[in-house]
Amino acid sequence: MSLTPPKGGDAMIQKILIANRGEIALRIQRACREMGIKTVAVYSTADRDLKHVLLADESVCIGPAAASGSYLNMAAIISAAEVTQADAIHPGYGFLSENADFAESCEKSGFTFIGPRSETIRLMGGKTTAKAEMIAAGVPCVPGSDGVLPEDDAIALETAERVGYPVIIKAVSGGGGRGMQVVRGKDELLNKISIARTEALNAFKDGSVFMEKFLECPRHIEIQVLCDAHGNCVHLGERDCSMQRRNQKVIEESPAPGITATQRAEIGAICVTACKRIGYRGAGTMEFLYAKGKFYFIEMNTRIQVEHPVTELVTGIDLIQSQIRIANGEKLWLEQSQIAPKGHAIECRINAENPKTFTPSPGEIKRWHVPGGPGVRIDSHCYSGYRVPPNYDSMIGKLITFGDTRASAVARMKIALSEMAVDGILTNIPMQQRILRDELFQKGEHHIHYLSDLLDKPE
Ligand code: ADP
Repeated sequence: MSLTPPKGGDAMIQKILIANRGEIALRIQRACREMGIKTVAVYSTADRDLKHVLLADESVCIGPAAASGSYLNMAAIISAAEVTQADAIHPGYGFLSENADFAESCEKSGFTFIGPRSETIRLMGGKTTAKAEMIAAGVPCVPGSDGVLPEDDAIALETAERVGYPVIIKAVSGGGGRGMQVVRGKDELLNKISIARTEALNAFKDGSVFMEKFLECPRHIEIQVLCDAHGNCVHLGERDCSMQRRNQKVIEESPAPGITATQRAEIGAICVTACKRIGYRGAGTMEFLYAKGKFYFIEMNTRIQVEHPVTELVTGIDLIQSQIRIANGEKLWLEQSQIAPKGHAIECRINAENPKTFTPSPGEIKRWHVPGGPGVRIDSHCYSGYRVPPNYDSMIGKLITFGDTRASAVARMKIALSEMAVDGILTNIPMQQRILRDELFQKGEHHIHYLSDLLDKPE
């Protein structure tokens, strides 16, 4: 048990354990160092050479390369926090970041969990409970089943009839775009529901599913919120993450092309009201599909997101430092009227993968040369000689550009991608360059299925 009492009152966080790896661990560490907070890195045996491990005040090996024994090993992480007498734990994204049991364990062991309360994570982690809560809060949602779909064929058929085909079957405990089935007509409904249930059971140990209207060509637009522990909340505008491959985001930007200040204020205010209603604390994202001028809530991410830098660049607000200040109990220091996006930011995810087949490409990075110049930001833990382990997500960094206008951010991104040189492993940079050259992307008219259509065409 930590000797440090739980945070509150005037006690300030002095040491943070970063329960993550890769670029986000380094990003959190940089925020801590800027704030004069000490850092504890935890790492698996495959990750001894991670940049943030080398730079940490203290580091603890928490287990084997397989994430199940290390980055997902709650007991090992909590005991590392105890041994190093950390005050707080930052979960980053992925791994345990949206695991309510982990947040609860942190709280019970006397550590400040840098994120929302565990009850909130639990509430918003169940897609159907989240949706019901959001409907009650007046947030527009995709029409669909009333919560979990019961195991009753007649009800399933009736619901689909009411919602109207095409429909999508989604896993209640789903994540990462997995466990979803699109159903075009009544003949395939029952079969697809059964496939979705099996997939969900295998992937998430929970076979329950729900149904939604399948929106054909929507955009993915999400709202960033920041709420303190005292009932204050602001939104930081939106991000457009419509460029996706297999439901995984590839390019993100802020603001979203074509969204007006009035639309932003309206949907932002709806999100703020909903967050206040659930007593949300910390940074969070409400994800929407956007079609024909209307927003439809799909889920809330109760953590920092990969694409947070684009919001940071257009608002000038450091989101990781904001998370830490909120965890410290600080009252929100920003009024909604002080927040307005300025300029335009775009992020390209750089993955260690074959740009044609998308199979992962781990191995030693022989040469790592990153671009620079005005409006260019790189968030990456890589360096020349670094070995990308085969055990984790293939994202090895994020290239983010900023400009006065979208066109200037796009122009800078093109140059930045052309300057970036990575040898020894394959990356998706050629695919990103192809997207950047695409006329429809340049007009900002793409939707969530656009990239798969583009990749099906010959170059
Ligand atoms: P996950 O938690 O697995 O990421 P989401 O509910 O956020 O699941 O959905 C992921 C992606 O799946 C969305 O960004 C969108 O591309 C697609 N999607 C989800 N729901 C719908 C829907 N009702 N209609 C069309 N596409 C959808």
